Amino acid sequence: MRGLLTLPVLAGLLALPGCVATPAADGKVRIVAGLYPLAYVARQVGGARAHVTDLTPAGAEPHDVELSPSQVAAVRSAAVVLAVRGLQPAVDQAAPAKATLDAFAGLSERREGGVRDPHVWLDPTRLAALGTTLARRLADVDPAHDTEYLRNALALSEELTTIDREYRAGLAHCARTDVVTSHAAFGYLADRYGLRQVGIAGLSPDAEPSPSRIASAARYVRAHHVTTVFFESLVSPKVARTVARETGATTAVLDPVESVRDGDDYRAVMRRNLATLRAALGCA
Ligand SMILES: [Zn+2]
Repeated sequence: MRGLLTLPVLAGLLALPGCVATPAADGKVRIVAGLYPLAYVARQVGGARAHVTDLTPAGAEPHDVELSPSQVAAVRSAAVVLAVRGLQPAVDQAAPAKATLDAFAGLSERREGGVRDPHVWLDPTRLAALGTTLARRLADVDPAHDTEYLRNALALSEELTTIDREYRAGLAHCARTDVVTSHAAFGYLADRYGLRQVGIAGLSPDAEPSPSRIASAARYVRAHHVTTVFFESLVSPKVARTVARETGATTAVLDPVESVRDGDDYRAVMRRNLATLRAALGCA
């Protein structure tokens, strides 16, 4: 572990003082995250040493979020801005290049219709890798606490690995593998656990699907004997209900963990999603 630390720590020391953002008055490293799952990682990895701001209010839709002047100021002065590049143009625009850490750093990405699928956090193993990348960045910014950040990242990785194991076991023997969903947020999850995502509305939740798209989704549901059409809590269930009504399927909520309500967290929502998927897909 020590060997790994040498280079980034050295880089951090060499960068002093001009390139290291000033810490907050309380001495904590200021991290700004574009949306909940990234803020979750930042809180776990930064621990007591970091002050984390989530730019998307609890229960709000993070795609194309608008920033208030005070949020723009927070982004400009943060030591680290953790964002999914391309998902929230206002954040990309305000974030200083030096402080920006793209959630995809070092990770493979899936594409759909030529566009990068932003929902990388729905693969717990990719999210664990992001935790390690963030720990290295924090060790650069705040070398005095480098081992603490790496230790926190390791603990997060263990938790996410447990969730990954639960998913693999829980979805290993299912009667059905089709995940028909209005907002196509579950591509990374589907790829990892051998499911097939059929998105009705596409990658962005506010894209209105055309009547022909809805009709082809309904045809798919009938042809593949799909019993459940998924929608999510932050977006209108209209599209999913239309397809379900036309085909006799039921609907259920699958949460893309883009934002959570108070008291909820990533692990709880992911476990709820697993239970929903197991019931809908007839998993043993
Ligand atoms: Zn989304």
